[in-house]
Amino acid sequence: MGETEKILQSCDDCGACIKNCIFLSHYCKTPKDLAGRFLRDPLKDIETAYSCTLCGLCRRVCHLNLYPGDMYLEARREIFRALQAKTLPEAPGHRAVLPKLKAIGSHQAFSTSPLFTLSKGPSAGNGTVPKTVFFPGCSFPAYSPGLVVKSYRYLRGKIPGTGIVLNCCGKPSRDMGDEEKFHTIFRNTMEEFSRLGVEEVVVACINCHKVFAENSSMRIRTIYELMTEMGFPKSVSGQGRKVSIHDVCPARYTPGIRSAVREIVTRLDYEIAEMPFRNEVTSCCGAGGCAPCGNADLSDRHSQKRVDQAKGRIVTYCAHCRERISSYASSLHVLDLVFRDPGRQHGKKYNKSWKNWLNRWYLKHRLRVMS
Ligand code: SF4
Ligand code: SF4
Repeated sequence: MGETEKILQSCDDCGACIKNCIFLSHYCKTPKDLAGRFLRDPLKDIETAYSCTLCGLCRRVCHLNLYPGDMYLEARREIFRALQAKTLPEAPGHRAVLPKLKAIGSHQAFSTSPLFTLSKGPSAGNGTVPKTVFFPGCSFPAYSPGLVVKSYRYLRGKIPGTGIVLNCCGKPSRDMGDEEKFHTIFRNTMEEFSRLGVEEVVVACINCHKVFAENSSMRIRTIYELMTEMGFPKSVSGQGRKVSIHDVCPARYTPGIRSAVREIVTRLDYEIAEMPFRNEVTSCCGAGGCAPCGNADLSDRHSQKRVDQAKGRIVTYCAHCRERISSYASSLHVLDLVFRDPGRQHGKKYNKSWKNWLNRWYLKHRLRVMS
């Protein structure tokens, strides 16, 4: 039985998920209403289906472990199948959403194309460490090629022979409802790891971490956990300045990652002003799950609500969250604190899209010639 049917049959309207979610409270009085609507006709209202951030907070607070986010995802898969079969009926509400889905499809095609991908396999090392590659994902290279290079140099210093693979884990395709594309991207990445003889993957993006952890038996670590175990460069002291940590949704059930980030921030001499929604009940930055494709205004409200919970500059460990938050408040990636001047001012706007692509292209070519 799918999650939509489960919700229709089992939800007891307790309201816990609605109370904590701008999207649910905007679109329904109870998730059962939406479940009924999606089961009757999943193709009618694609704005609603694409407005959820797939953040998982509703499941965390549901005493029956129901997951309204999965209901949206099931509707998206139906919509995507209809799109591909060219059977999606015309509707006025579709016009605003479809071009944004097309843009994500193009993002996935470019992200996995030879223009932006690179594979440098691990060398044999001394036999005492696993053959490791760094997989920085998409949004971190788009944010800062310089930080990726510093992170890579750091890893090679700690784990000699570490290689690097630039590619996308495929999560945007899965979130969009294009399961087939997701599986193709992920399978290609795993085949590449196998060709390179990779035994361990170090990631900087927690979405990549979740995708690898859920879909493979690959040994996977974050650079943050590794830094707390192996030490990290002496950086500029935070001098006790207050920062708030935005926990990213895919780290909801990985306490080791969340505490590693806090340990790094504390060791760099910052004071952490914790947000009320954190750890397992963290709240999304507003950009997760392709949600701005659906109702962009609601996503904006979500982001504003999130930054209003902070009591200092916001530090996070997802480059995509950092970028989203930067439109509302000053924000830094935790690796900014480790590797460069944390006093650096960040603009309050997103990078222009061309700048993100240029960063990724530049990174590929810089790494290609790096010894
Ligand atoms: S996954 Fe997040 S945004 Fe989606 S319904 Fe649940 S709490 Fe709301
Ligand atoms: S928290 Fe669970 S039981 Fe309560 S309204 Fe939401 S889905 Fe239904």
